[in-house]
Amino acid sequence: MAAQGEGAPARAKSEQFDAVIVGAGFAGMYMLHRLRGLGLTARVFEAGVGVGGTWYWNRYPGARCDVESLEYQYGFSDEVQRGWTWSERYAAQPEILRYQNYVADKLDLRRDMRFETRVTSATYDEHTGLWTVETDKGDSVSARFCIMATGCLSAARVPDFEGLEDFQGDWYHTGGWPHEGVDFSGKRVAVIGTGSSGIQSIPVIAAQAAHMTVFQRTANFTLPAGNRPLTQGEIARSKETLLEDRKHARETPGGIICFEYNETLAGDLTPEARERELDTRWNQGGFAFLGAFGDLMATHEANDIAADFAREKMRASVKNPDVVEKLLPFDHPVGVKRLCLDTDYLQTFDQPHVDLVDVRETPVERISKKGVVCGGREYEADAIVFATGFDAMTGALLAIDVTGRGGAKLKEKWAAGPRTYLGLGSAGFPNLFFITGPGSPSVLSNMIVSIEQHVDWITDCVKRLTDGNIRSIEPTREAEDAWVSHVNELASETLYPQANSWYMGANIPGKPRVFMPYTGGVNVYGEKLAEVAAADYEGFRLGA
Ligand code: FAD
Ligand code: NAP
Repeated sequence: MAAQGEGAPARAKSEQFDAVIVGAGFAGMYMLHRLRGLGLTARVFEAGVGVGGTWYWNRYPGARCDVESLEYQYGFSDEVQRGWTWSERYAAQPEILRYQNYVADKLDLRRDMRFETRVTSATYDEHTGLWTVETDKGDSVSARFCIMATGCLSAARVPDFEGLEDFQGDWYHTGGWPHEGVDFSGKRVAVIGTGSSGIQSIPVIAAQAAHMTVFQRTANFTLPAGNRPLTQGEIARSKETLLEDRKHARETPGGIICFEYNETLAGDLTPEARERELDTRWNQGGFAFLGAFGDLMATHEANDIAADFAREKMRASVKNPDVVEKLLPFDHPVGVKRLCLDTDYLQTFDQPHVDLVDVRETPVERISKKGVVCGGREYEADAIVFATGFDAMTGALLAIDVTGRGGAKLKEKWAAGPRTYLGLGSAGFPNLFFITGPGSPSVLSNMIVSIEQHVDWITDCVKRLTDGNIRSIEPTREAEDAWVSHVNELASETLYPQANSWYMGANIPGKPRVFMPYTGGVNVYGEKLAEVAAADYEGFRLGA
């Protein structure tokens, strides 16, 4: 395997390409491959030292996928998939990163990538029809197409706790974990945050630490992942059917085929049948649980049945009577915050060296030299782990100073919430594409399926423009307004907006509260994408 960035030609400060791609995660890697297939030139800029995106940055102990490995992989090439064999049902971060590096090697992607380079601005010139992209390394390159593969969960966020700079121990964010790993042996560790990252890392860190204090603001629904080695039979079957499976995945709401959604409404099932359905799905592990009834994500009546079931299962997993009730979520419907999949998370709180501090009523006040202060008490720690999440969906994108037609700033346009047509583009910003942007299924789906759906669509669109000698494409205001309303309306028919989730931007003080992803499903969305393209990009304005 080639070392990251090895063999890269000397940096030229001012170059021109057909396209600039920002980000070298799953999205940026596949986008580069497809543009090369059109015979176009492209430059990828990536802030990290290597490819991988999420899996490059999130190296915390216990990190693994929550969509099964056999589905959480590229599905565009039989040759690529046949050369790789997954070991576990839910691959751990090092294995996923090795897979991404395997793909980068196989497709020889790195020669068009510049690592350790952060894009700072992207500016559209109406006269030349080109984007100028600038980086923190002093590059200024121009390109006809600017493609943001910046990731929905790539802007890690440490809350603005007073006193952090004076903390005498070490601190880490799960989304920017040291490459050399961290040895917590003999240490007192404080973990703040109990979302997916906290729930995955807490049991593993607790196994090493001398003492652990977990600060929980919101108890989350979590169910056993049921991770295990894959069988030879599963691996062999997947190698035969992956490409076909991927086609099916696009015909499902979540881009996942390892379970089916039950369309029957909860009220149409007997209590025994409901219990059986929930139990089977709980034992299956993964997101199957949320597909138990047709109205599980739409009505409180149906959702309460599943939530009660989940709480009972969770309650039965903890023996410690001092903490069990605190670990149960009562303040939001199940599934409206990302369902967590765990390995022995709840059982961790039965260990005598692990304490749970509920910070819902008494928030973390500050970080002191010696630890975390809340409720007027100081909890001493040698290390603090912030599992506090991300400025999701818009954070990485808006950290770039994006300027469109007439000097319009994307950040200003999106001040009250993101405005896109199909999650792919925004009016006033010609030839600018977002991969899995707000307004598309993205984070509500198997992300690799959604990434491939977007990259394929963008590739066809770029081909249409280059073949047809068309200078630019951008959404019309009308199409964008209608799409934003549609996305909001669909979300309002679900229970999703009823939680303080990162889907809503609620985890970032001051961020507008707007439900950002499209809830209609990958399948319905895919049909819309196809219709738009077939009608020669209806809703977009094609510039001569
Ligand atoms: P990313 O992988 O986030 O890559 C974006 C890249 O862009 C990053 O490397 C970043 O450094 C770079 N970048 C951003 N801004 C700039 C800039 N200005 N200049 C240069 N580079 C920039 N999804 C699932 O479907 N299933 C899962 O099991 C799953 N597990 C996850 C586990 C964790 C811990 C996290 C955080 C997310 C998980 N996700 C999962 C979501 C995950 O983000 C996607 O599945 C997928 O990896 C996203 O790929 P991407 O290429 O779109 O973005
Ligand atoms: P997250 O879901 O946003 O969780 C952050 C946690 O930190 C929450 O418990 C939050 O509490 C808490 N928090 C934030 N600010 C706080 C403060 N000031 N004081 C106290 N607590 C605070 O972030 P994440 O766990 O990193 O996960 C983000 C997403 O990444 C997931 O939803 C998932 O999509 C993906 N992911 C997937 C996996 C996987 O299983 N494959 C693993 C990790 C991440 P509140 O809930 O009260 O805000």
